[in-house]
Formats: sequence, C-alpha cells, structure tokens
Amino acid sequence: MGIINVLDVSVANLIAAGEVVERPASAIKEMVENSIDAGATEVTAEIKNGGISFIRVPDNGCGMTREDAMMCLRRHATSKIKNEKDLYAIMTLGFRGEALAAISAVTQMRIMTAKEGEELGTLITASYGSLRDVADSGCPVGTTIICEAMFAHTPARLKFMKSNASETAYVASVMEKMAISHPEVAIKFIADGKLRFSTSGDGNLKNAIYSVFGAFATKMAEVRSSHAGVRVNGYISTPDNVRGNRAMQHFFINSRSVKNKTLTAALEQAFRSYIPHDKFPSCVLDITLNCALVDVNIHPSKLEVKFSDEKAVFDALYYAVRGALESSLSRPALETLKSESAKITEEKLKVISPFVPKDEKIKYDKITLSDITSEKIEKIVPQADSDVPKAEAPMPKREVVFER
Ligand code: ADP
Ligand code: MG
Repeated sequence: MGIINVLDVSVANLIAAGEVVERPASAIKEMVENSIDAGATEVTAEIKNGGISFIRVPDNGCGMTREDAMMCLRRHATSKIKNEKDLYAIMTLGFRGEALAAISAVTQMRIMTAKEGEELGTLITASYGSLRDVADSGCPVGTTIICEAMFAHTPARLKFMKSNASETAYVASVMEKMAISHPEVAIKFIADGKLRFSTSGDGNLKNAIYSVFGAFATKMAEVRSSHAGVRVNGYISTPDNVRGNRAMQHFFINSRSVKNKTLTAALEQAFRSYIPHDKFPSCVLDITLNCALVDVNIHPSKLEVKFSDEKAVFDALYYAVRGALESSLSRPALETLKSESAKITEEKLKVISPFVPKDEKIKYDKITLSDITSEKIEKIVPQADSDVPKAEAPMPKREVVFER
C-alpha cells in the first residue's frame, strides 16, 4: 500500500504560512500592501505587544463584496492576476493570492468590509485557518482587518518571536518603508496606544521622509534622473550625513520595497570618493522601469527582485547618484545666492557668509548670477559656511566597475 497522502488544505496553508508570515511585521506588510492595492488613500496599522496579541489595519480602499470577502481567505485567491501572462507584467504589490490565507492560518481574524453604494458591509470571522462566521456589518466603505493571538496554535513558531520591543521595531521598519514608498497615501503607525508617525499623503516624498525620519530629511540631496528607460527619483544623504551601517538605505522598484545587491553596489560606488570607506550613505530611492524587465516572483515575501538587464539598472542608479552628489556640492551656496538677488552686494554677501574675510578684495557689486560658476562660489562663499563639506580630493575619473 502506498504511503503518500495529499495534505489537508489547513495543513498545507499552515506550511505555506511559514513562508509568508514569519512574524507580525510580515503579516502587516501584506495587509498594508493589500490596502494600497485596493486604492486606499488612508491606511493605519495599529499593534499591541509587537503585533503578537493584536493587529488592526483599517483602510478606506474599495472594500470587498461579501462573496469576495469569503473568497479572499482561500489560498491562491486573488483579484490581481488571472493567467500566466499577467505574471510578467505585475502592476500591483500583491499577486500571489497567499497572504490572507496564510495570515488567517496563524491568527484569529476578523474582516469588516464594505463597498461604495452597499447598504450593509460584511463581517467575516476566521480562526486559525477555519471560517467561523459571516454576518452583516454596519462598517464604512473600505476594509478593516483585525488579527489576534498570532501563533497561539503553533507554539513552535511563537517560541521564535523576539521581545515585544524587537517585534515592534520590525513592524516600524515595515511601516516606514510603506510610508516613504507611497507618499500619496496617508499612513499612520500606532504601537501600544502611541502614535509613532503619520504621513499626510500629500504625494510629496520629502514631506513623507520628514514625517517618518525627522532630521535625516534636512541633509539630503534630491535625485531625479533617467537613463536608458530606467528612472531614478528620491533622495540621498549628503556626504556629511553618512552612517556606520546600511540601515537607512531604502530602495524601491516601482514603489515596491526591495533588497538587491546591484542597487546597494551602485549607490556605494557612486559615493566612493566622497566618504570614508567605513561609512555608508543613506537613501530613499525609487527606481521606475518597465515591469516586464523586473521579476518580483522570486520569493513569497516579494522582497527580492531579478532584473533582466542588471547593468542598465546599475548604470542608471550610479549616474543618478553621482550627478546628484556633484550638484549638491555646489548647489547649496548657489541657491542661497539665487534667493538673495541676481545682483549681489557686499552687504548681502556678509550676511550669507560671515566667513568672508574682511580684507578680501572681491568686487561683489560687479558679480551677477550669470557670472557665477561653482569655482567662483567656492572662492566667494568659503566651505565653512556650507552645510555640505567639500570632497577631500578632486573627483578621480574612473571607469564604472560593475560589481556583483
Ligand atoms: P493578493 O494580494 O496576492 O491578491 P491576498 O491574500 O493578500 O492576495 O488577498 C487576496 C485578495 O483579497 C486580494 O486579491 C484582494 O482582492 C482582496 N483584498 C485583500 N485585502 C483587501 C483590502 N484591504 N481591500 C480590498 N480588497 C482586499
Ligand atoms: Mg496581498
């Protein structure tokens, strides 16, 4: 007699859940991605005890019909793709149809959802992989998902959870990435009753970065460039705002948070002659490219991507960062001068630069904006007056070495 069984759906879901829901932070990432895919302009994530005892994610997205709300807990149930062809042109954050099935396999879950124009919404109750109840609910348009007691039925998984503070930090990191990759969505993160951050959703990336990271946002240079069909937008730290680790390197591909060595290498190589070898630049960079040229279907967590032309992506990022760095070294002084007036007087320059020596014999009155070159600005406004330090040595001309 054969010894092979086909596993029960609930056991299969539990095994799959191990890949998608490693910890509360991964469940929250999936839920917030769903809210963004549902067109929400406001999404909140609220947690207690690192998310292990309680997670609540309300959104004002499109909501679900009752039929869909019951369907969404099934494995491989998705509204985002229909066939194999769609897999090569994924425009949404989700597409695998696994997350809610996986999360509901390891939590007690409630979904309250309503669509525009519907008189009543739906409340779905599920417990560790089993649908318990479907009822009417007088909820607003959108979806709210509540998950409680994560891994209570899988003590082996629960044992791997870290302290509440560490789990909260994982969730915070997920929420930060969500907020800065989607400045057009007002995103809020509340942990143990305390508001950690809240973005306005005004679409301005710098405002979102400021809401999430505060002071970091004040020492950044803007990156805006396009090279061979690869667009790079965002901010990099100025060379005096570097860190001892890579924790503040945030890369997004088509607004999806990713980890990718090519991107890290391009960023760090572009900074190489500007900062010490033991320091790391920070960044918030969104790389936009044709979605057919990037495969996000590498791992269930969708954090890894594969480019069909890695060199093109490396070059686009390298040159974008290099260009932003070069102009950031001269721009602060230029902008200050520009904002003063086209005709710069000695008095004004003294205000701009208290470091101009008194006996300096420069005929300031004669200088107009059109005359100003970066060399002249360095002469007029000594580096000590600028936020941005000068590169220690002149930039060497070097070949771009493609590191893997
Ligand atoms: P995927 O996102 O890969 O499609 P999920 O398991 O995350 O798979 O979600 C299954 C389906 O449930 C989605 O395709 C979507 O139709 C629906 N859904 C999930 N969350 C929401 C939400 N917040 N608002 C509206 N629909 C949702
Ligand atoms: Mg999803």
